[in-house]
Amino acid sequence: MHTNPDPCSHGLWAASAPPAPEAPPLQGHHVVDVAIVGAGFTGLSAALHLAEGGASALVLEAMDIGFGGSGRNVGLINAGMWVMPSSLPAVLGPVHGERLLERLGHGPSVVFDLIARHGIACEAERNGTLHCAVGRAGWREIGARAREWQALGAPVELLDAATAARLTGTSAFTGALLDRRAGTLQPLAYARGLARAAQAAGAALHARSPVTGLRDEGTHWRLTTAQGATVDARWVLVATNAYSAPDGLWPGLDSEIVHLPYFNLATRPLGERERATILPQRQGAWDTHPVLSSFRLDAAGRLIFGSVGALHGAGHAIHRDWGRRALARLFPALRGIDFEHAWYGHIGMTRNALPRLHRLARNTWSFSGYNGRGIAPGTVFGRELARLVLGQQGEADMALPVTPVQAVPLRRVREAGYEIGARAMHLTHARW
Ligand SMILES: Cc1cc2nc3c(=O)[nH]c(=O)nc-3n(C[C@H](O)[C@H](O)[C@H](O)COP(=O)(O)OP(=O)(O)OC[C@H]3O[C@@H](n4cnc5c(N)ncnc54)[C@H](O)[C@@H]3O)c2cc1C
Repeated sequence: MHTNPDPCSHGLWAASAPPAPEAPPLQGHHVVDVAIVGAGFTGLSAALHLAEGGASALVLEAMDIGFGGSGRNVGLINAGMWVMPSSLPAVLGPVHGERLLERLGHGPSVVFDLIARHGIACEAERNGTLHCAVGRAGWREIGARAREWQALGAPVELLDAATAARLTGTSAFTGALLDRRAGTLQPLAYARGLARAAQAAGAALHARSPVTGLRDEGTHWRLTTAQGATVDARWVLVATNAYSAPDGLWPGLDSEIVHLPYFNLATRPLGERERATILPQRQGAWDTHPVLSSFRLDAAGRLIFGSVGALHGAGHAIHRDWGRRALARLFPALRGIDFEHAWYGHIGMTRNALPRLHRLARNTWSFSGYNGRGIAPGTVFGRELARLVLGQQGEADMALPVTPVQAVPLRRVREAGYEIGARAMHLTHARW
């Protein structure tokens, strides 16, 4: 996926993030304990925790730090997955189901604690998130979610339509689920901050160093970059997730991910009067519609509005025009407002909407498929990989069961379906 047609656009996040730390392309030959491929939340969290644990870790990134989903996302720090909490034990079995719920339920705390501990400047705010209900079906969905999380002791609250309108600034919703564990951040700034913290702990980071070869040498693995540099490592962590190249590093790894395009549009900073009514308490929000949309404010008060679709080819104008119309309908005070930034990325979906943990080969591991929930899971799973390598956690203690790589049938058709469906929805005004 690092041949994205618009490879350099990280929109607002690139414009407002602190600069990336120095990470020159790898040259020469190196010997380390752990080589990590991919500098997103997963790879960077692994590198940081490995270095803190005393292992030598070297990260190789094909493009730039945070180039993949980590530098493009909405910035909602969620607790848990998309799937209903009750379905996790049913799908993963009671041990892993409950363990995943527990670990991801605490995921936002892991992120906020790391940010505080390393002083990462990434606009982090823990004001909660609002899962906004569309129509009666949406209200039933969030009601069920609220009951299930509350039964697990989570601090979530079901809000009626009037309260949802007061907290969002629009009367479009029939209610909302407020999750006080959650919050928002500037995702590229968080990735760069993690990278800086990993370097400070002793990890080596190299951008513009695509790994093109991975060979088992018996006692260690040899990684080769496109420029011919080499790394010998006892352990390899493949953290390329939805940005694995189709002809990628590990055969088949890309084939289990269905890429869902998702775009974001950011306005100018809103004025004080607009901010008094639109997300006045600054929660991050998204809705229950099947072609969902999301909205949140950044630190400067820009409204960031997103939905399914690729800002590519004809889709660019279709999705952007829809964004303008939809904002005007949701927030009439913003009629006529334009967008200062527009960007998109690919969310890695899996067949059962749950992430994957693979032992690809001896001492070679991978987490992937976060289904649009990657800030907290990527941070938590990266830490789990580090603990596994450091011997602090066994395979049986991981958050997920180890499964084989399994291709999704008709993957390209499904991917095309996402984009066609989103364009149809955005052209026909079928929403808002
Ligand atoms: C538009 C969008 C919105 C999203 N919104 C949210 C949200 O609000 N909240 C949330 O929690 N999650 C969200 N997500 C999901 C989240 O961003 C991802 O799950 C998360 O960033 C994945 O992190 P990662 O480190 O596993 O992978 P990535 O960040 O994708 O990193 C993988 C890296 O591997 C590199 N790479 C690939 N191949 C090679 C190679 N051969 N050699 C070296 N490097 C290689 C890539 O260049 C890339 O930088 C969103 C995703 C997108 C795209």
